[in-house]
Formats: sequence, C-alpha cells, structure tokens
Amino acid sequence: WKHAPAHFRALLEMSRFHGEKVFLVYEDEQITFEEHFRRAATLANRLVDDYGIRKGDRVAVAMRNYPEWVISFSAVLAAGAVAVPLNAWWTEAELAYGVRDSGAKVLIADGERAVRLASTGVPLIVTRGEPPAGARAFGEVLGEVAADVKLPDVELFPDDPATIFYTSGTTGHPKGALGSHRNLGQSPMTVAYGLMHSLAMAGKDLAAAAGTRRVMLLTVPLFHVTGCFSGMTTTMFTGGGLVLMYKWDPEQALRLIEREKVSAMIGVPTSAWQLMSHPDFGKYDLSSLTNLGYGGAPAPPKLLERITENLPDRAPSNGYGMTETTALAIGNGGADYRAKPDSIGRPVPVVDVRVVDPLDNELPPGEVGELCLRGPNVILGYWNKPEATAQTFVDGWVHTGDLAKIDDEGFVYIVDRAKDMVIRGGENVYCAEVEAALFEHPAVDDAAVIGVPHDELGEEVGAVIRLAPGRSVTAEELQAFLAARIAKFKIPAHIWFRDGELPRNPGGKILKTHLRREILGSA
Ligand code: ATP
Ligand code: MG
Repeated sequence: WKHAPAHFRALLEMSRFHGEKVFLVYEDEQITFEEHFRRAATLANRLVDDYGIRKGDRVAVAMRNYPEWVISFSAVLAAGAVAVPLNAWWTEAELAYGVRDSGAKVLIADGERAVRLASTGVPLIVTRGEPPAGARAFGEVLGEVAADVKLPDVELFPDDPATIFYTSGTTGHPKGALGSHRNLGQSPMTVAYGLMHSLAMAGKDLAAAAGTRRVMLLTVPLFHVTGCFSGMTTTMFTGGGLVLMYKWDPEQALRLIEREKVSAMIGVPTSAWQLMSHPDFGKYDLSSLTNLGYGGAPAPPKLLERITENLPDRAPSNGYGMTETTALAIGNGGADYRAKPDSIGRPVPVVDVRVVDPLDNELPPGEVGELCLRGPNVILGYWNKPEATAQTFVDGWVHTGDLAKIDDEGFVYIVDRAKDMVIRGGENVYCAEVEAALFEHPAVDDAAVIGVPHDELGEEVGAVIRLAPGRSVTAEELQAFLAARIAKFKIPAHIWFRDGELPRNPGGKILKTHLRREILGSA
C-alpha cells in the first residue's frame, strides 16, 4: 500500500484474507469475501473507465440493505471517489436534495429508488428492478468479473474525503457529514471496543468467546453510520458474517437468528424490545445469540432488565455515537452496564469527552451541560455548510447537542437532547428521564415526552403512550405511578394514548417534531 494502510482500500484488500468465508447473507443469497472483493474491484474499474469517476468525485448509493449496497460502497471508495449513502426512506424531493447537495456524478440505486431518482438526470446504475429509460442494469455494468481483478490505481491520503453520510434529520434538515479515510480507518478501533462489550458474556472469558465466528444480524440501515461501520466494516475487518434484512421485522429477525445461528444482533433499543415482545418469541431457538447491541436513541434501564429476564446470560450493550463521530464513540457493556444501566458507558479509547456550559467552560463531574467529543473519528465537517461546521466543530471538539453529565469514574449519562428538553417554569425536565420512568410500568409499550406550551409556566410536560397489547391504564394511574419515582414537577400533566406506533425514523429515533405537530398542531 502506498499510504496509510488504515484506508478503506487496504481494509478491502485485507478482507480477501477471509477468502471463501461467507461475508454477506440476504435471504437465500450468500456472498463470500473473495466474491465481494472481486465484484467491488470490478465495479470500481467500471466507474473509473466507463463513467470517468476520479478521485474526490461523489457517487451516491440509494438502496435498501441489499448485498449490492456493500459492493457499491466498497467500489466507490476503491475508485478513490466519495461514497454518498442516501436514505432509502427519502421521498423523490428528498432524494433530489441529496443528489443536488452532494453533486453526485453517478447514482447506484435499487429499482424502487431508481424510479424516484430518474428525474435528476444523473447517470443511474440499477439493481433489483427494471432500470428506467436511459439507466443501466447493475449486472450489465459489472460485466465479467475476473478472478485476478485489481483495484484501480489511485493515490489517497488520510485526510482525503471518503464519505458523505447524511445525519438523521431529527432536529432539522439532514446535514452531509464529510468523513475522511482516516475517520473510516479508525472505525476498526472503535469496533474492537464494541467487540469487547459484545463478547463480555456472563461466565465466558474473551478468549473463549473469540473462538466462535461472529454472525451479525443487521437490523438497521446501511445508509446510517451504525449499520455501515458498527455493522458492515466491523464484519469485514473480523471475518464474520453479516445477515441483511430488507427492513426491520421482529418475526423475520427471530427466524433469521435461528436459521443463520446469529451471535450478535445490532439495532436500536426498540428492536431489542420488540423482539422480546413478539408473541412467538419463545418458539425460536435463540441459543446462538450472545450479544444484543443497540444505540442511536435512549435505552431505558427497563430494557436491560427485560433482556436479563428473557435472554439470560447474554451480553447486552449500549453504544452512543453520531454521524459526526463515524459511529461508536462511547459504550457500555458487561458488568459496567449491569452496575450502571442508565449510563452510555465510557468513551472508546481514542475518544476524549467533556461537558461544557454555554460559554464552553468545562464543567465538573456530576454537572449537566453539553457533551463534546474529540478524536480521530470526528469528521472533517459538514459538506457545503461552513456556518453549521463552525458552530458544531470548535477547536477539534464536536458539540453534540446532547445534554449529559459525567460521573467520578468517567461514565457518561445522556440526560436529553438539548432541543427536546422541557423547561417548566424555569425547571429543566429531561424527557429521557420521564420516559425511562414510564417504561417501568408494565402497561407501557412505548413512550415519548414532549413540551406543551403553557401561558404561565412556558411549558408543561406531556406524554404520548402506546399501551402494551391487552393492557390498560388511565392517565391518573400513570401519574400516581410516576409520583413514587420522579419529582412532582416532572410528572406529565397531559397524557395521550395512541393505538399506532410512535413516529420513528429508520434510526429508531422518535420524531418529536412530528409528534408535537400531530398532537399540538405546532412544532
Ligand atoms: P440531526 O443531527 O440531523 O438532527 P441526529 O442527531 O438524530 O439527527 P445521528 O447522527 O444519526 O443524527 O444521531 C446522533 C444522536 O443520536 C446523538 O446526538 C444522540 O442524541 C442520539 N444517540 C445516539 N446513541 C445514543 C444512545 N446510546 N443513547 C442516547 N442517545 C443516543
Ligand atoms: Mg445530530
């Protein structure tokens, strides 16, 4: 390798080491490491030779979790171009924004996305569906895959851009997060830490657990950093298997865990919760499953309790990360997690953390302020957004927009997103704390706390509840239940019950802006 072997190209070449082992599984399809490498290298050459893609050009990938997503992502990076994963849930207008904003020169999409992308006029390569007029089929572009295919010859440096992932858009418009090859190459480091947690099972030591091949069920999209880095590049690095799903479905997950002998499931807190609530949960053989990893949204302590009851002797782990930190930055697992189930744990060894007041002064342990992170996994900045970049990335620290505190032992606690916090008559009410208390009630299947405008107090606390099947509870009963757990001013004055699921984005985050608009008629 000419430059830093941590580059994705090197990772891709290293993956050939695992050769005939199965890398990707999708329904009845299996792709080995060798096949993945050859197809990605072939596509990379096609992008360079047929489409004129050069170092730094952007190529967008818009698909569900198909094996071609991984092949395309690998190909774009191997060509020296910048991979732009687009959110497969986006509408035609949102996809058009992603294409325009990133200035993508080529789009690689599945059939469903291709229909929505056709109007952009950008050259389109299509898999899993009919290519629209003017577009080419993925298989046709790939052509013959030679056994001795080489990666195109490009010179890359650690700080060259590699990816533009769009943030989830929970607090506003999604921003393009420009990640470098260095950031990407750092992901195996954070991954090693994740592995430590995932292998930290009761009664087994690391070495014993490491002897088993890791088969991961990916329940979150590849177009977010958790799926791509904690899921895909981890697996590429460690020679495990990655089982893909078209979309999250608890019953299919149960079936896949049994069939593929899945050892690690990665997802959002809700997916672990829904897996255990499924009526057929007890009918499947889940003995292979040793790790349940989740993150991306607050995990109520009750979740750990339910896992301990329903899936004893496993290793649950909670990971905190953001698009801006190339996935995992802080994690909790093993005995630490059991001792401090309300904490997201300690930073991965390459990350520094601190909590600051609004003037950027570092706060002492125990005090709540904005969480800031620093490390080689922090991205270069936002694509085409100098103002947002200057606001969020200050002196190497990324301002997370999350309110947190750090205890004497260095464990971090997320108390709320700054934008979600309810200020009731000058008192701060952290939604996550009230939600965690609500989850303690057996009739509560899902909960979201929001601020409700109030003339005198400014805001009042409101909660939207989804009841567990066959359960009932009144607002008064819930308020009385909470009175024993949290201070009076935090108890929701308004409680709404709803039948359907709470609005969530593909990252498992509750869309509070939608919820406020739906319930209060204002955002
Ligand atoms: P946008 O920045 O566009 O508003 P977003 O912040 O939701 O969207 P992501 O980068 O996908 O986009 O998510 C990062 C955020 O997810 C964190 O800032 C934090 O609020 C939340 N988060 C991630 N992991 C955890 C966790 N384990 N516990 C609590 N919150 C988490
Ligand atoms: Mg964010």
